[in-house]
Amino acid sequence: MVLVDVGAQAVFWSAGMLGAAPTEPGAPAAIHARVLEAFRDWPNPVPAMLAATDPHAIIERPLVDRPPLTRWSVGRVTLLGDAAHPMVPALGQGANTAFEDAVELAHCLTTAPSIEGALTTYEAGRLPRTQVIQARSATQGSRAYDPDSERYLRGVAEQAQIGQDAFEQWLYGYRPGAVR
Ligand SMILES: Cc1cc2nc3c(=O)[nH]c(=O)nc-3n(C[C@H](O)[C@H](O)[C@H](O)COP(=O)(O)OP(=O)(O)OC[C@H]3O[C@@H](n4cnc5c(N)ncnc54)[C@H](O)[C@@H]3O)c2cc1C
Repeated sequence: MVLVDVGAQAVFWSAGMLGAAPTEPGAPAAIHARVLEAFRDWPNPVPAMLAATDPHAIIERPLVDRPPLTRWSVGRVTLLGDAAHPMVPALGQGANTAFEDAVELAHCLTTAPSIEGALTTYEAGRLPRTQVIQARSATQGSRAYDPDSERYLRGVAEQAQIGQDAFEQWLYGYRPGAVR
């Protein structure tokens, strides 16, 4: 639950909960009732604030991710951003990594002798890093993948479990276009 005082006596709130499967957005009254029920036992001001919220002001969306891919490119086509590495927003890195992809891809396209070569270099540089960020986001977002993915993810997940300071240094010390 995140509460932000946005001034003019208004508060922005955002709340997340784990669900078994994505649900289609429902009617405002139904969404409001579901949120009230989910946070009923929380300490005030949370229940009171939720009760005071206009149901039509609530936006409910499923957050959907998937285990990391092992490749992004085929021939002269590649992926970047969420299409390449969707992650739950537990670390706030989805857009950041999309920007990193863009800078790295532009760098590769201007320095490689061919488009295919540029995409190979781009993918080799970006995929391992974003796998770790995806895995750490999943862990922090309390996401669980199916057993096959868990096996595949084990190596990445171990790398993603380094201490917070070391992780942040690794995360924020990155310079796209300068790595390799
Ligand atoms: C609640 C929440 C909080 C977040 N907080 C953060 C944060 O603090 N920091 C951070 O870095 N990231 C955050 N993110 C993640 C960030 O929003 C995404 O990672 C980022 O928007 C991905 O950018 P993208 O361009 O790859 O994809 P998108 O933003 O999804 O853009 C894809 C675009 O393609 C369009 N499109 C789809 N199909 C077609 C089609 N067939 N033809 C034409 N257009 C099409 C879509 O409409 C969309 O506009 C958050 C995400 C959520 C949900």
